[in-house]
Amino acid sequence: MQANRIDVESLIGKSFSCECGRTHIIPTKYLIYSDDVISTMPEILERHCSDKSVAIISDSRTHKVAAEDIANSFAKANWSLTDIIVPDTSDGTPPHCDDETYERISAEISDKPEMILAVGAGTINDLAKWLAFDMNIPYAVFATAASMTGYTSPIVAPTIKGVKQVVCAQPAIGVFAAGRIIENAPFKLTTAGLGDALAKPMSSADWIMNNMLFDEHYCPLCTQISSATELTYLDNPSAIRSRQPNVIEALFRGLVYCGFAMTIAGTNVTPSGGEHIFSHTLDMLASIDGGANDYHGRQVGLGVILSAALYSELMQIENPTLRDLPETIDKSFWGGLADGIANDYAAKRPLTKTMQEKFSDKRLWRKYIDRIKGIVKTPNRIKECLKQAGGASGFSDIQCERDRVKSVILHMHEMGTRCTVVELSWAMGILPDRTDDLIDEWLS
Ligand SMILES: [Zn+2]
Ligand SMILES: [Zn+2]
Repeated sequence: MQANRIDVESLIGKSFSCECGRTHIIPTKYLIYSDDVISTMPEILERHCSDKSVAIISDSRTHKVAAEDIANSFAKANWSLTDIIVPDTSDGTPPHCDDETYERISAEISDKPEMILAVGAGTINDLAKWLAFDMNIPYAVFATAASMTGYTSPIVAPTIKGVKQVVCAQPAIGVFAAGRIIENAPFKLTTAGLGDALAKPMSSADWIMNNMLFDEHYCPLCTQISSATELTYLDNPSAIRSRQPNVIEALFRGLVYCGFAMTIAGTNVTPSGGEHIFSHTLDMLASIDGGANDYHGRQVGLGVILSAALYSELMQIENPTLRDLPETIDKSFWGGLADGIANDYAAKRPLTKTMQEKFSDKRLWRKYIDRIKGIVKTPNRIKECLKQAGGASGFSDIQCERDRVKSVILHMHEMGTRCTVVELSWAMGILPDRTDDLIDEWLS
């Protein structure tokens, strides 16, 4: 790791004033990555629970892997426990974070505990975070995979009435993990984590654009925090494949740090970079036509390759001439979601017009490129990293046909209310003109 890298661990649980002019708080108080953590957790969490009551939420897999031992450890320390195992869906797949599952678990927690402890990753963590926030109690997590940034981010992404939503909540008060469990997590989950971790430099470049064009507050510390362990996994992808302990730990910490950065940045910034819009559009499409989708981070990883490819073409432009984006959305693509998407797009149109005007100034354009060139990575570096790590690096790896990925690329600018590399690429004519080449060169 580079010597000048920021010491993120020293900021955990602290409030501090930042070079960006704001005071930030990282509400997560503990990040403990140790093989004996199951025996020490009750004592640590006792500081936050005078009556020592906790609801432990797991699924059938994470119950076997850890929650059973954790429940024993808390029982031994005289805690009163509610042990909830979220059942699989009726077709035998792991549970989802949706309104139905939420209601079912909520009914199982009869006496309000002082804390919820999630034992799991994406879904279980999101359910616990959501429930705890609504019950106005803290939650902690025993993480079972390095699969996403949600342990320490302030948001939950549930499906409500069939539609993917974003709900604001509070990050975990403590994140606990044992290397032996994280290293042996289902490998697809680890590669999902890699895709999500690689997203941060790209979303930072999008953020800087919004700072320059629309005065959106930008915090450079967030970019530093989220890339603090980046080189360890970016430069050693084959060590991810071989589950080398120090590199898996760096990936895990990197994801937790990204969550810190998301908490500092605020909820509307970090999850909405162009690379995430790619994944969200795939999820939307799956909810419309029932087609397959993959883990969030595996889809995001492909979005990162795409963002990097778009940025590498954009950065070669010396004399920008920008065109207007399409007037309206293609309603036939969005089915029942079309009206909501159209409203968002209408709200974004004035921003794309401002982008068109402002970036026609060659000096401002050069300034933007200068600010992002040390941050964005080349598409080759991202693709090779995902490939050598054994992750998803082409559309077939996420169970997607070429036509499907093409229609996602051609419609993703219609989503969201913010300008990203996607809208910029439309204004510069890279999209839709170069779609086929980009797919063949980078996403196949
Ligand atoms: Zn993500
Ligand atoms: Zn700041």
